[in-house]
Amino acid sequence: MVRINSRIAQVTGSTTLAITARANELKAQGVDVVSFAAGEPDFDTPDYIKEAALQAIKNGFTKYTPSSGTEELRAAICDKLKRDNALDYKPAEIVVGCGAKHAIFNAVMVLCDAGDEVLIPAPYWVSYPEMVKVAGATPKYIQTTPASGFRITPVQLQAAITPRTKLLILNSPSNPTGSVYSRAELEAIADICLKNGLYVISDEIYEKLLYTDAPFTSIAALGKGIQALTITVNGMSKAYAMTGWRIGYAAGPSAIMGHMKNLQDHSTSNPCSISQKAALAALRAPEDGIRAMRDEFLVRRNLMMSLVDGIPGVSYIKPDGAFYLFCDFSKFGPCAEVAKRILNEVNVAVIPGDGFGAEGYLRLTFCTSQERIREGVRRIKEWIARSI
Ligand SMILES: *Cc1c(COP(=O)(O)O)cnc(C)c1O
Repeated sequence: MVRINSRIAQVTGSTTLAITARANELKAQGVDVVSFAAGEPDFDTPDYIKEAALQAIKNGFTKYTPSSGTEELRAAICDKLKRDNALDYKPAEIVVGCGAKHAIFNAVMVLCDAGDEVLIPAPYWVSYPEMVKVAGATPKYIQTTPASGFRITPVQLQAAITPRTKLLILNSPSNPTGSVYSRAELEAIADICLKNGLYVISDEIYEKLLYTDAPFTSIAALGKGIQALTITVNGMSKAYAMTGWRIGYAAGPSAIMGHMKNLQDHSTSNPCSISQKAALAALRAPEDGIRAMRDEFLVRRNLMMSLVDGIPGVSYIKPDGAFYLFCDFSKFGPCAEVAKRILNEVNVAVIPGDGFGAEGYLRLTFCTSQERIREGVRRIKEWIARSI
């Protein structure tokens, strides 16, 4: 038997894979499957972004770039962070990676060592704990509940800190819950981080998909002290419907970013040169196009909520951001089993919550048309009527 690196050996594969594989199998047999499983916008990448990529190819912009991204793209990211987030960064404090996931991975690798503890509010995005394990550090979960809107409280955060705690991974708006922290809540969290010298990775990938009137707050914008402890991560995937292009970025103190660049120098090198030109066009353009996508997500969210309200025994917390309705199906059995049965018996693909640290829940995405949302929820309702 091959002996595998001990840190890699404890990494678990994607829990969503089994459902997706089965859904594809059914589709291949000609079954009409409604998918609420996707973790990406169903919209096409806007034309002005594609056009910039075609130009990049025609102009021969097809070679290596600096490994942390071109100077012009990092400058455009600084402009964006200034404009949208009231954050001051210099291009040298930006590392562009192959998606926000890659930026988070590199940040975790640079910050964490064996023995370090990393605080992860649960439910969490599935990749955070696995990244922490690859770094040799230990994930420690802070359990949130529907009663707190799936947000950690300052008391919980303080109680979770030990002398080994190195880092907190925040994700607002959240995948899978859609919860969003208010400015006041972030201020309380920032105070505790400052007092304890705790670093923060702030995953802001759903920043543009917000459904309340309150403006988005980046935790790093709350003061110079917390900015010095924070790595702000964002990217193109969710807001610009660019999941396949693989462009994300991190902004943080140069002492940390220099090491992220070094790590990238010897692993991926630069993210795709063509995608970098596309990202530049996306960041420089007016936001009308992406606002239209957000408006459609809002309509779909409201539709899905009103339909799920009609299913007895299922509850959820209204998501203020992202594109997921995270529903409590615990009355109907273990969530992996429920998801499998819903797929096999009424052909709707949903993601079980156990991979997100939330047994009993199912994640339903509204990244599909209003018509498919009506059909999918109708089928789930029928399944429940049949099985109780
Ligand atoms: C989709 C997602 C990302 C990463 O997206 P990339 O495609 O790697 O840029 C990061 N965090 C969360 C919570 C996500 O849902």
